[in-house]
Amino acid sequence: MCLLCEAAITIAATVGSVIPGIAASETPSITERPPVVAAAATTVTPAVSMGKCARVGQTRTVERVRYVCSKSKRWKVVKTAETTTASVTLRPSIAYSPPTQPGSNIATCMIREQNANRAGMGLSTLPTGFPRNTIAKKEGVVKWALIPIDFPDLTGEPNFRSRVDNQMDLLSEWFAVASEGKFKVEWIVHPSWVRLPSQTADYQIGRSDNLNRVPNGLKLWRDAMTQSDKAFNFSGVQTVNFLLPNGQNFLQEGSQGFPWDEAVRNFVTEEGVVESFSIPGKFFDQPGRQYWSYWVHEFGHAMALPHIGSSREENPYMGLDIMSNQDGESRDLSGWLRFLAGWLPDERVHCQDFGVAKSSEITLIPLNESVSGIKMVVVPVSDTKAVVIESRRESKFSCSMPSKRNGVLVYVYDATLSHGEDFLKPIGPGGRVPESSYNCFAARFPNPIIYRGEKVVAEGVTIEVLESLNMDKIRISRE
Ligand SMILES: [Zn+2]
Repeated sequence: MCLLCEAAITIAATVGSVIPGIAASETPSITERPPVVAAAATTVTPAVSMGKCARVGQTRTVERVRYVCSKSKRWKVVKTAETTTASVTLRPSIAYSPPTQPGSNIATCMIREQNANRAGMGLSTLPTGFPRNTIAKKEGVVKWALIPIDFPDLTGEPNFRSRVDNQMDLLSEWFAVASEGKFKVEWIVHPSWVRLPSQTADYQIGRSDNLNRVPNGLKLWRDAMTQSDKAFNFSGVQTVNFLLPNGQNFLQEGSQGFPWDEAVRNFVTEEGVVESFSIPGKFFDQPGRQYWSYWVHEFGHAMALPHIGSSREENPYMGLDIMSNQDGESRDLSGWLRFLAGWLPDERVHCQDFGVAKSSEITLIPLNESVSGIKMVVVPVSDTKAVVIESRRESKFSCSMPSKRNGVLVYVYDATLSHGEDFLKPIGPGGRVPESSYNCFAARFPNPIIYRGEKVVAEGVTIEVLESLNMDKIRISRE
């Protein structure tokens, strides 16, 4: 979970500033085909009230239809060679073309994580680099439970589904998109509130922390599971998300548990162990925050995805990935983490070791689209660093920002940094002012997206955006 103090965050309705020039540089540059002109035949029967006319040759126009008084002194529609024109503008697009230089062996781009955390953990729980964590299940259909829990002194509202149905749909859709269809979440919703035995005061949790360090967190988890187990069939359920009554005030941030938490591992339901859980707190009831992105973020950790940067301090990547901030401007999963999760197939990753080639032109398919082609370029620059290039588009998983986030994102992966550190850093064009969102909580950062005609230099690699429409065409080069 990312929990920044609210002073650091501003809802942009009052603040948003537009970056000069960005709107202009987004204008499509490829000349569209001329508008298609279609002839439209018009057949109109004059209204009955227009049946007779007084003077032959007399004309009148009613509702854009021109009539003339005929020899028989009746109104007739004027037929002219003139036709109505309707223009259909075709959306400009570029065609996909394969990279102009062959890619290197994909293994060259599987940068090995090398830091004290990784060395200490062996098969790292939350790796930032390779080798992959292969323990957590990341493919196939998984069942997620949603169970509403209420209390003797706080009864749940009758129509709780209206609060969560859309959130559950968004979550399932997010995993389908990010995993390229490999990971499918099916929800099982318990239809009624499960009553816990104690008053809300006995479950009071302020700051979100590891389950094992929060006594009330343990009590809430155990009581929720004990009572739910009597009413709910947990068979095949991988994670359980508890829902609290609307307007609750005893759980401030959130409470969650992971496969490595002793209390989670040790709770065995009648159907077996449930590997993780989450409970969104009051923090997520604020306008501009949502449950789905919190659920994704926490479950992301349960499936071995690392947290990018600190969860309580700002970092430059925090608006760019759901694993940095569940409330960020873009709640996408970066190409690097998709690659690490095994969701981005090797054929979508172009590994460009510049041992031989000096320059290459590549067409990038935007990260969330399904058409075939390259989605990410990795340029290894040392044993512990790689430049990563991908194509982003605003989607239903993004916030509204003053400048459109449709273009190329370049960042550097640093394998000497671990989970909770800034192992991904964006390389933007510079000279841009910080912006915040119109419709959600998003920390203010300069827009790092690179538009057509712009270029950046990252670790000695120059990335230039040649075209940016339905896809992005880039040139990468190294001296
Ligand atoms: Zn986190």
